[in-house]
Amino acid sequence: MKKKWILLLLITISFTNLAAQDALYPNTFPLGDVRITAGPFKHACDLNVKVLLQYDTDRLLAPFLREAGLPKKAETYGNWEKDGLDGHIGGHYLSALAIHYAATGNQECKKRMDYMVSEFARVQQANGDGSICGFPNSKKFAEEIRKGNVGIVWNYWVAWYNMHKTYAGLRDAWLYGKNEKAKKIFLKFCDWGVDVISNLDDRQMERMLDNEFGGMNEVYADAWQMTGNPKYLDTAKRFSHKQIFDSMTRRIDNLDNKHANTQVPKAVGYQRVAELNSKTASDYNEFMTAAEFFWETVVFHRSLSLGGNSRGEHFPEAGKCSDYMHERQGPESCNTNNMLKLTEGLFRIHPKVEYADFYERALYNHILSTQHPEHGGYVYFTPACPSHYRVYSAPGEAMWCCVGTGMENHGKYGQFIYTHDTVDNALYVNLFIPSELNWKEKKIKIVQETDFPNEEGTTLTVNPSKATQFKLLIRYPSWVEQGKMQVVCDGVDYAKNAQPGSYIAIDRQWSKGDVVEIKTPMTVRIEELPNVPNAISIMRGPILLGARTGTENMPGLIAGGGRWEHIAHGSLVSLFDVPYIIGKEVIF
Ligand SMILES: [Zn+2]
Repeated sequence: MKKKWILLLLITISFTNLAAQDALYPNTFPLGDVRITAGPFKHACDLNVKVLLQYDTDRLLAPFLREAGLPKKAETYGNWEKDGLDGHIGGHYLSALAIHYAATGNQECKKRMDYMVSEFARVQQANGDGSICGFPNSKKFAEEIRKGNVGIVWNYWVAWYNMHKTYAGLRDAWLYGKNEKAKKIFLKFCDWGVDVISNLDDRQMERMLDNEFGGMNEVYADAWQMTGNPKYLDTAKRFSHKQIFDSMTRRIDNLDNKHANTQVPKAVGYQRVAELNSKTASDYNEFMTAAEFFWETVVFHRSLSLGGNSRGEHFPEAGKCSDYMHERQGPESCNTNNMLKLTEGLFRIHPKVEYADFYERALYNHILSTQHPEHGGYVYFTPACPSHYRVYSAPGEAMWCCVGTGMENHGKYGQFIYTHDTVDNALYVNLFIPSELNWKEKKIKIVQETDFPNEEGTTLTVNPSKATQFKLLIRYPSWVEQGKMQVVCDGVDYAKNAQPGSYIAIDRQWSKGDVVEIKTPMTVRIEELPNVPNAISIMRGPILLGARTGTENMPGLIAGGGRWEHIAHGSLVSLFDVPYIIGKEVIF
């Protein structure tokens, strides 16, 4: 009897440990073990919880009940939720509840998350075949795909993209929210998807995937990791879309004029397959190269100084980047949400500073800025044309894709501050955000205190329960000049011979109260718009500088439910009328 109890206890413990981010992302601390203690990221997360709770769960679930033939409990929302993309926000919302519950422990988020999972279970049962769809005529969609009529995708508004949000929501309810039921529903839904495409040959798959399909390859890679069942790996590969994949594996950038956020999640899927695949698998290098090359080409050749990309939702040709100066529809928030996912994934495979540098840039300058700091509305486009403005969502009105990813973004700020490498017995400090890490496995607490980026540095206090050996790795950002970084512990400066763009290691025995003082002096520098050298940004350290230029002429600042209200339609300010800088060094 005693043995049984012990066994049961062990099973319970391993179960609990599994259902946190390290279940899929082994170097990542559970969000609940990293507490942000002050500053704009804490403010953004707390505000976002309040915004999330202004949405009505039953209204978000209504499209799913309708498609399953169940009696309705509430009316569906308007805007994109009744224009054919019905249900996409429901999936995002489930992810957001799970993430914010994990990050803050908010019980209302948990209650709503559990309720949504049980409603999805009811929908799945009513459908009888494992599906959970919110878009109109979803049963007809599946019937036609089964028959090989893949052209049907164009009669729908990105059906697979929409379903991917539900898949991801269920995965996240399990991954972040520890809801075991969500995992079962997720896998049953995965089986339905495997079955729906089972009759398609490679040509039919390729034609179907010409239509935006979100990160379907990513969620099937997750299902493979969760179960070890190779049918999910096979399906992840089938969702690769050769048009992009083959080009990326050959390191050829064929992204000109392509819809940007259609492509980024594909690369997230390539990365996940590479991460989980055996290094000896015959196609390991292909998936790895596709993911790495996609990241390189987008980050180094197609991103603006804020870390975002796309104009009018598309990647411009190299010669057309000057369009950014006149375009209302600048970088889209969803793209950066997905680029951060890709960056985290690549970092798990190769923990390089260039990944962390990009992450920091995109997090501070784009993602954090896409939330209004007072009312918490979300942003779709961030125009790069001088003196233009951005439009914000209002809860329950705007139902854009970027509202969906926006709901998730602000709960995840604790995910990449610290990562660990158990093989190397190392802790990475990637971001300078005031926070407390509870490294449970090692019984160590790390306190980071800083007012970064107002303060040019940060302080770490290490508190192990008993003296412990491990390697602390601190990012030497590429924006700190050589010889300027300081990492001082016990009177020794560990940064002395280090290079920008590397991790500075302190490998020692740590005792309670050990302090590491880090100095990251910032310089002011200019960065050019890709291929447009006479259009520049001014950067201080990782931060893109801006200027207040007035609040006049901003019609539609808070969007209503109209179809095109996510765009800042107000008139553009002539480049001759915007404020300008006169300096000795910069001549136009
Ligand atoms: Zn979007």
